[in-house]
Formats: sequence, C-alpha cells, structure tokens
Amino acid sequence: MSEVELKEGRTVTLCRYCLSEKSLTVNDGFETDEDFHNHLEEEHDLVVRRENETEEQAEARVKQKNPRIGTEECRCPDCRRKREE
Ligand SMILES: [Zn+2]
Ligand SMILES: [Zn+2]
Repeated sequence: MSEVELKEGRTVTLCRYCLSEKSLTVNDGFETDEDFHNHLEEEHDLVVRRENETEEQAEARVKQKNPRIGTEECRCPDCRRKREE
C-alpha cells in the first residue's frame, strides 16, 4: 500500500492497482481504510475482510454488492492476469 504524506500532516493511501495503470495525484488518495477498502471491492473486484468478519462473510458481502466477482467479467488482478496469458 502506498502512503503519501500531505503538507497538512494527513496521510492518504494511493491504490497500487490504479498506480500501475495510470498516474495518480494526492487527490486520488484515500483518507480512511474504509474508503480504500470499498474502492478495492468496487473497482478491483477484491474481497477485503473487515473486522469481525469471517472469510465467508466477507465474500458473501462483497459478492452481493459486486456480482461481477468470480465471473468472466471479474476485474481482480488475478483474473486480469489470467486473461492476458
Ligand atoms: Zn484502484
Ligand atoms: Zn477475479
């Protein structure tokens, strides 16, 4: 995870998956883990386990909001790599 320190002393997280595809500015950074994890789940089709969640619960929760996961349309880094092979 790439963190960028802002002048004001705040830290934002830059998404490394987005970073590998395009250049980002600090304005693209996420200020909270919650925002960053939502981004990973919605944009990169990854399941991020939250506090007090089992792996199964996390998968069920993310698949409900993002039905693309695990299908042919899945955009997670693993599936994208496999499709390019
Ligand atoms: Zn991203
Ligand atoms: Zn996938």
